[in-house]
Amino acid sequence: MNFVNECIKCTVDQCKHHAQSQNYCSLNSIMVGTHENNPTMDQCTDCKSFEVK
Ligand code: SF4
Repeated sequence: MNFVNECIKCTVDQCKHHAQSQNYCSLNSIMVGTHENNPTMDQCTDCKSFEVK
């Protein structure tokens, strides 16, 4: 079974780093960023470690 990092919860199971059977990331750490100049809400932030499956 793949490593599950219980410190990083994630529901994006389209990502190749997702633990699939459980809503966690399998990476040791992730990078979070933003695509906005002036982020004001959670929708403004992104997981920069995302990679499509
Ligand atoms: S890399 Fe980001 S989007 Fe992908 S499973 Fe981990 S936390 Fe989720």
